Amino acid sequence: MLHIDMDAFYASLEVARHPELRGQPVIIGTGPRSVVSAASYEARRYGVNSAMASARARQLCPNGVFLPVDMKYYRMMSHRIFDEVFSRVTDRIEQVSVDECYMDVSAALLRWDRPSAIGAWMRREVASRYHVTCSVGIAANKLVAKMASTNAKPDGMLLIPVSRHAEFVQMMPLRGIPGIGPALEKRLVAWGVNSVADLAAMGEDALVRACGGSATLAHGLYLASRGLDERVVAPRAQEKSVGAERTFDEDTRDMRRVCGLLRWACDDVASTLRRRGLMARTVTVKLRFADLTYMTKAHTMEKPVDTASALYPQCVALLRAMMDVPPAAGEDISLSREIRLAGMSASGLVEAAGAVIQPTLDDLLEEADADDAAAPAPTKATRLREAEQALDAVRRKYGVKAASLGL
Ligand SMILES: [Mg+2]
Repeated sequence: MLHIDMDAFYASLEVARHPELRGQPVIIGTGPRSVVSAASYEARRYGVNSAMASARARQLCPNGVFLPVDMKYYRMMSHRIFDEVFSRVTDRIEQVSVDECYMDVSAALLRWDRPSAIGAWMRREVASRYHVTCSVGIAANKLVAKMASTNAKPDGMLLIPVSRHAEFVQMMPLRGIPGIGPALEKRLVAWGVNSVADLAAMGEDALVRACGGSATLAHGLYLASRGLDERVVAPRAQEKSVGAERTFDEDTRDMRRVCGLLRWACDDVASTLRRRGLMARTVTVKLRFADLTYMTKAHTMEKPVDTASALYPQCVALLRAMMDVPPAAGEDISLSREIRLAGMSASGLVEAAGAVIQPTLDDLLEEADADDAAAPAPTKATRLREAEQALDAVRRKYGVKAASLGL
């Protein structure tokens, strides 16, 4: 498996189209209320990082070149790099974001002989054609490949042979394991676990106690601390998107009605996704107004989903952002514009068979905290998914209107 992560992607692309910026601290994200979307390595030397408030970045790096986010350009270049370089190695590619993917090269090895030859070729091609450097991690599984690319950054390549997987992950701090977030780290530190090596030294019983009784979380940590990971690469599906939309009988400003329609659309789209064995990473909400102009807004999630219960809250958040609804306002409000049609679509589709349906380690922690029972509890997301699958079965037998999700 290869994990490829392009370095400071947005900033590198801006430098590529404005060569006069080479060597300067470039920071993407301007405006008094915006956050930094990317920072060149020159800017990082000043302590500037992604997700930091742009105002703070300006204090740290007053001479920085601040540029607005141009997602359309970054997406277009990402498509080209995936099409013109990565896809030439194999079609077993799971794109995680515009600048990151996993690649299963086991079949491609017949032609390429060594995985490092593939990594080196891709790094050369992307650098020479697009002036973007990539970091590549090579390992026998996704977990170790990703940790290897992180450690190879920037502009490096690291191969971890399978015999060294455990040793490699055990050199890392806790947060070096993808999925261990601040909450889980804090929990583990309270149990005297300060590193992955400490984690690997714990027995499974002690791990279960440290995990608030969640055997599932404990097992996840047990595997990760040994560099074990069974997930497979889930290539992008052929289909591009699945959507549903509907025109209101009469134009409306009623937020509740628009939400109701979005809920119907999410339910419809989610059941189509499940029927076709797909999962989606990106949610887009579309609104058409009384004057026939329209607006769309999209959000990409960290992991793919196929349930209305996961899609709907994203749609509501997008709707609120699109219509400038104050965060405290409930659904009982009148929108600022009359809406003629609303709908949503799911894209960034992957085959469900290969996708990570497993909850993240942080999801499991939340579950352990919510329910301190000794028995391993499935996560809320898992239970909702099972409920929606049951709904599919009822509808197959008795028709689409036979049952629906309660609010
Ligand atoms: Mg990157």
